[in-house]
Amino acid sequence: MTAESTRTPTITHKQFYLEWPLYKRVEFSPGHESSVENTKIAIDGIERFKNPPADIDSYCVQCNKESSFKLFRTAQIIKAPQGLHPMRLSNPANSTKTDKELYEYFGISMECKLNSSHKMYALFLLDLTSILKIGQWPSSSDLKGGNEKKYQRLLGSKKYSELKSATRLFSGGVGIGSFVYLRRIFEGLVFDAYERVPIARDAIFRQQFEIARMDERIDMLREYLPEFLTANKKVYAILSKGIHELSDDECLRYFEVLYCGIEAILDEIIEKEERENKAKKAEYALGKIRGTLKNSSKPK
Ligand SMILES: [Zn+2]
Repeated sequence: MTAESTRTPTITHKQFYLEWPLYKRVEFSPGHESSVENTKIAIDGIERFKNPPADIDSYCVQCNKESSFKLFRTAQIIKAPQGLHPMRLSNPANSTKTDKELYEYFGISMECKLNSSHKMYALFLLDLTSILKIGQWPSSSDLKGGNEKKYQRLLGSKKYSELKSATRLFSGGVGIGSFVYLRRIFEGLVFDAYERVPIARDAIFRQQFEIARMDERIDMLREYLPEFLTANKKVYAILSKGIHELSDDECLRYFEVLYCGIEAILDEIIEKEERENKAKKAEYALGKIRGTLKNSSKPK
């Protein structure tokens, strides 16, 4: 086995089939912007297709919960002109090897192990210089939607629909636009905290807050914000850099990480609320038991 075939792939099966954006053409051509990174991802994706695992884990939109999916492959194979196979571009050391077969398109269907009528599909087009994902069902934003539902109450309808817009744009290959929505969610969390804290009624604090930068605002509200948010102020800086300076491709590449960061912040708020609610309920119930015991205890 060569070092090339044993290195860790840059993309997992799940990322390739279910999270990779649609219509984002990945060029293999040398000299193309970020072609080295793109070539690695595309080649790994094709390798992943050739060597499928028995199954992959994913949320099932019909079961409404996490499940495991069995994979079935299909592909149209055509002859590639010698010397132009993308696999050879990825590994110049193998350039004397003749690769004559090339996929024209390939697809994967996935069958839910909890119910075999629940299916998912992904379809890719491939030519000599590029690969393009042309179809997926359910969409990656539908798949995320199952997990996202738990944030609906916390975010309210306006912010919740913005979170869905972020994932919808990402699954359609719109990187910078998806960052705009993620940043609005982040800002919303900071402003919500600001509106809730008693110190915000202080005129001097308000004045300072209004002219402060976002990282300074986070410091000012440190004790009222989720720990993950205050420890990861850079999420905001990266989202802003994405909107102003990064390319669509770069934003798409970083989307999942930043989305996870937002999820971690939202999860922390929900967990805290659940803990507090449980404690309140337990306190109330304990008070009732104490009252009952007091009333029923007989004087000695
Ligand atoms: Zn299912």
